[in-house]
Amino acid sequence: MPVIGPFGPSVDAGPRVPSSGQPPSRGTASPMTGPDLRVIAPEDDRYNATLVARSDETESLGYFTIKFDGPAVPFESGQYMTIGVIADGRLVQRPYSVASDPGVAESEGYELYIRLVNGGQFTPLLWQLPLGHRMRMIGPKGKFTLLPDDDRTHLFISSGTGNAPFVSMMRRLAREGHPRRAVFLNGVSYQHELGYRSLVEGWAASGSYPVTYVPTVSRRTAPENEGWNGRWGRVESIVAPVCDELGLTPANTIVYICGNPDMILSAEETLLGRGFPEDQVKTELYWPKGKEPRGGE
Ligand SMILES: Cc1cc2nc3c(=O)[nH]c(=O)nc-3n(C[C@H](O)[C@H](O)[C@H](O)COP(=O)(O)OP(=O)(O)OC[C@H]3O[C@@H](n4cnc5c(N)ncnc54)[C@H](O)[C@@H]3O)c2cc1C
Repeated sequence: MPVIGPFGPSVDAGPRVPSSGQPPSRGTASPMTGPDLRVIAPEDDRYNATLVARSDETESLGYFTIKFDGPAVPFESGQYMTIGVIADGRLVQRPYSVASDPGVAESEGYELYIRLVNGGQFTPLLWQLPLGHRMRMIGPKGKFTLLPDDDRTHLFISSGTGNAPFVSMMRRLAREGHPRRAVFLNGVSYQHELGYRSLVEGWAASGSYPVTYVPTVSRRTAPENEGWNGRWGRVESIVAPVCDELGLTPANTIVYICGNPDMILSAEETLLGRGFPEDQVKTELYWPKGKEPRGGE
């Protein structure tokens, strides 16, 4: 059952699988759509991996680590894996950028940073999985990868969970002992949604990775954002000022942008307007342009 590109068919028909072993999980209740009563198969011939770790950043943002049964498949930072489960006899699967260092895929697995989309096909199922649940994982795929030996400043621009590939890139470069100077922008609605914040702030504070971390929060009047003393606004709105403040120009900077397609388009427009050639602005869209985000990215 091939996945045809990241937006290709992702729900495959398949035989209904009787439950065996552990009791089947049921989908989550969504405040927007009512209870999700799909039954998740605990075992299936198509499963080839296991959910080995999970930690929650918020109610709807989580870090999930999945490990192959057999040897790890090598990947490059910036690529994605497609993960899925069988629900009501059908394979439901989605692509996710890997956030972990490729160097730990064999020992630890593949860490993914995921937002729960209420009413979505896959994420409400994922949120129900207990540790140790069996899954299907295929990949890697994708061309959103670093150029070799590039000593320009890397401007990483992300909305929400679009920060995942950049975390993988920096983890890898740090391990290899060849960190590349980075300016890392991450935009979220609420300050508590800044995933990997302490990791990246730790790198910046200790100097263990040469990164300037620029988080930005968009909802000024939300009580959850009281006390926020960083930047305000959507991430695309801070691209121009950050370039000015830090002297980022087409002569010294390569840009990677990941996440919400509208954000990407807007940030790209700003950069092209500042003279960046198209091939110096690399992009990874999390869903096709024209679809509204659900849940704040
Ligand atoms: C190459 C690639 C890498 C991706 N990597 C990640 C990742 O690392 N982390 C991650 O959370 N998602 C990632 N996604 C998005 C992911 O594949 C799913 O689309 C998402 O989890 C929703 O799946 P779903 O079945 O629950 O929702 P669906 O039923 O498929 O609904 C899809 C709709 O949900 C909305 N949506 C999708 N993703 C988000 C999001 N992150 N925030 C808010 N609204 C969203 C959009 O409106 C989209 O049209 C990636 C997508 C691609 C193409």
